[in-house]
Amino acid sequence: MFSINELDFTIPEFWNLSSSLVRNYKPVTMAEYFSSKCLPEKFALIRHDVDRMPGNSLATARIESELGIKATYYFRATKNVFVPKIIKEIADLGHEIGYHYEVLSEAAGDYSKAIKLFEHHLSEFRKICDITTISMHGRPLSKFDNRDLWKVHDFRKFGILGEAYLSAGHELNYLSDTGRSWGTKIA
Ligand SMILES: [Zn+2]
Repeated sequence: MFSINELDFTIPEFWNLSSSLVRNYKPVTMAEYFSSKCLPEKFALIRHDVDRMPGNSLATARIESELGIKATYYFRATKNVFVPKIIKEIADLGHEIGYHYEVLSEAAGDYSKAIKLFEHHLSEFRKICDITTISMHGRPLSKFDNRDLWKVHDFRKFGILGEAYLSAGHELNYLSDTGRSWGTKIA
């Protein structure tokens, strides 16, 4: 899985990375990964967590689209990130949109409030496009792990096929701009 942070690359670097990636791997969206029984032999899950700057994500989404890549963009439901026009435009390019949730931190650990918030945000996203996968946003200063919500609730009840950090394993390979090294990261 290639997890790409929105700040990691300049546009020319991102173009180079994506074009070399697509020469060697078949890109698969997270929803395809969770629902597919026969995956290509060499596939890449390209996922972006949209934490702060949806405009940058639109730029990378356009590049990927030109290269024939289908990626997954996880949007937070926060005011500056949840921009319906951009979300729709990225979805229309053929990418998957997912919900980058943080409701347990938002609700300060109140599970019943958190699940209500989750349902509410999900319905707001679904007014724009189909949402079938989610990924948690990690807040470094919050004492709550947003994934803990699923110890109490089942995301399948909300029509969700998988959670990127839970269902696809904890070890994520990602490319960083510092020395192009492989490492693990939750953001
Ligand atoms: Zn995040």
